[in-house]
Amino acid sequence: MSKYIFITGGVVSSVGKGISVASIGKILKSRGISVSVQKLDPYLNVDPGTMSPFQHGEVFVTQDGAETDLDLGHYERFIGIELTQASNVTSGQVYSSVIAHERRGDFLGGTIQVVPHVTNEIKRRIRRVAEISQADIVIVEVGGTVGDIEGQPFLEAIRQMRKDEGRDNVLYIHVTFLPHIAATDELKTKPTQHSVNELRRIGVQPDVILCRGDKEISGAIRDKISLFCDVDKEAVISLVTSETIYEVPLLLEDAGLVEFIVRRLGLRAERSNLEEWRAMVAKLKAPKEPVTIGLVGKYVGLRDAYYSVREALCHAALAHNRAVKIEWLDSEQLDGMADDKLRQVQGIIVPGGFGYRGIEGMIKAAQFARKREIPYFGLCLGMHIMVIELGRHVFHTDKVNSTEFDAASAYPVIDLLPEQRGVEEKGGTMRLGTYPCQLVAGTIAARTYGVQVVYERHRHRYEFNNDFRQPLEEAGIVASGLSPDGRLVEITELRDHPWMLGCQFHPEFKSRPDFPHPLFVGFIGAAKETLIEGAQTSLPLN
Ligand code: GLN
Repeated sequence: MSKYIFITGGVVSSVGKGISVASIGKILKSRGISVSVQKLDPYLNVDPGTMSPFQHGEVFVTQDGAETDLDLGHYERFIGIELTQASNVTSGQVYSSVIAHERRGDFLGGTIQVVPHVTNEIKRRIRRVAEISQADIVIVEVGGTVGDIEGQPFLEAIRQMRKDEGRDNVLYIHVTFLPHIAATDELKTKPTQHSVNELRRIGVQPDVILCRGDKEISGAIRDKISLFCDVDKEAVISLVTSETIYEVPLLLEDAGLVEFIVRRLGLRAERSNLEEWRAMVAKLKAPKEPVTIGLVGKYVGLRDAYYSVREALCHAALAHNRAVKIEWLDSEQLDGMADDKLRQVQGIIVPGGFGYRGIEGMIKAAQFARKREIPYFGLCLGMHIMVIELGRHVFHTDKVNSTEFDAASAYPVIDLLPEQRGVEEKGGTMRLGTYPCQLVAGTIAARTYGVQVVYERHRHRYEFNNDFRQPLEEAGIVASGLSPDGRLVEITELRDHPWMLGCQFHPEFKSRPDFPHPLFVGFIGAAKETLIEGAQTSLPLN
């Protein structure tokens, strides 16, 4: 039978609750305790798939094709597990299913209420993760901050879980923020006391408090929080801002959190086994020569929009014992071949995206990469951009396009699949999740992966149009990855270029700090050989 750890957040959002959850999963797993993780998101959208990155950052895609909160990316990267659709629950899903049951008459004329109907549905979904995963511990993160209106049914549901599952099987962890007052050089505990009071009002007494702050908490602060919040002293844990997020599991391990959890939940833990992770973090923190990568997108002001891409670049650079320096290039501000910003980078990456805005600038970046022989890596939309750019070169016209951007294009080199035509609904209707891709021997893709078949995650509607395959192949495009039936081009690369490759899938979702993705490793490997125009041959340390 699984046990549960529920994690709530207090005081303010963005204090690293997702990273804390991922880190707790990591340290438990390193002790031989199996874990699964779930995120409960209080907003009313059914999934974040239809939300703008301005609202919610990147949409993370699981292997079974769920469009989820980016916190699931942290969980997978830190813990090294693959999650499913069941791991991201939103209020939208919960209410839709309760209302669907009501419409079917399943409640036999009863009055449908938040307690018990909505809370029962939430608990059913929490338990489903336990059933599917059979994990020793299911860690459940409640999104938002205690006190939010939307979060109430979730907090009520997790309160009931302690009674339902038994006191020894449920643990509550509250992540708070301690503001630092510079004038007196003090960390303040009052907001934490208030948010714990708010939790208790609902009936949840935290067992552990993680105190995020820019400074280590002193003994006196610990005593105060322990006294006012009624939490054991050893369970008041300092979560000081660290240089890299991958250090957080080590901070929690060294603070003795596993011992506390194991004792409270009556579990057995093996000896800690984080040596490789520790070495990885040390390597990450050591000064290294940077590789400069230009990331061309329309949301570059918003770093969370490309979270997994940023992490995958960092993992791959580490594999070359380099740091990555990302130049965020707004695709709407790029000038083309003469662009100074493009001349300052060693590789260009064009990540996924939707809609016409910013497309022309991305095409200019791809042209720059092709003509100047700068390594180029296109992810999904970035592959479309690479194909459109070469198409425009081959057919000598700007009419070459994807039908996503020009529905009437005379040269639709990227087009919808027949089965996607006429699909009107926006939510969950794309080609989503893992599909196999067969690699063509002798190509960069096959060499880089070193295997014949790969499984990668998709999230798109548009595809390479085979009607244009022959002229594009004659012009230098190599279809180096194909669906097993040969119908879909999954990877394109350019002949006679050091490294120009686009993939129809999102490899960034499978990169881990300790298992960097081969394509990213290949891309950084090619980029590090590029000399920046006018720069000294030896780059400064960062
Ligand atoms: N907009 C493109 C499509 O729907 C690419 C999507 C993406 O980059 N994820 O096919």
